[in-house]
Amino acid sequence: YNPVEMIGQSIRSIPDWPKQGVTFRDITPVLQNPRTFRMLIDIFVARYMQQQLDLVAGVDARGFIIGSVIAYELNLGFIPIRKKGKLPFETVGEEYHLEYGQASVEIHVDAVKEGQRVLLIDDLIATGGTLLAANRLLNRLGANVVEAASIIDLPDLGGSTLIKETGLPVFSLYSF
Ligand code: 5GP
Repeated sequence: YNPVEMIGQSIRSIPDWPKQGVTFRDITPVLQNPRTFRMLIDIFVARYMQQQLDLVAGVDARGFIIGSVIAYELNLGFIPIRKKGKLPFETVGEEYHLEYGQASVEIHVDAVKEGQRVLLIDDLIATGGTLLAANRLLNRLGANVVEAASIIDLPDLGGSTLIKETGLPVFSLYSF
């Protein structure tokens, strides 16, 4: 039995969602099954155990689900990077381009202290726009972002390559 293969086979592909021509990769079956959920978390925990991290930053919303559990297991704090307008305290924001229009992510100004080592995590990398914007936010606060991690990479969309080109290492468990 291969944990990565079992996780990969538990990812459900939904054709034409949220629109024609797009295949959505749905991680809810991976989370629903306690065995694949634990395998998934354990892989990330093992990878980052020796990395002397200070914080895990998760991206709204599926990045929260796995990021917070990984942070807890590593005995680290968790910080949320949220869609615009959700965080109550003083924030900084970064915009990024979607296929149509723009989106924006925000972080609390006091979420990270200068020089803290942060793991950045989301469920999936497509164009990379979301993680690049999240990385810019963390850098503006003086964080040392150690790696951008995801469960899934869609390499044909080029996002993981773009992120690596900025000098930030990328780790993904499974590619489609
Ligand atoms: P990007 O900014 O890299 O183009 O898109 C990644 C973001 O969109 C992530 O926050 C991710 O949750 C979401 N996303 C885009 N496509 C999918 C998909 O097929 N499956 C999942 N689970 N998330 C997706």
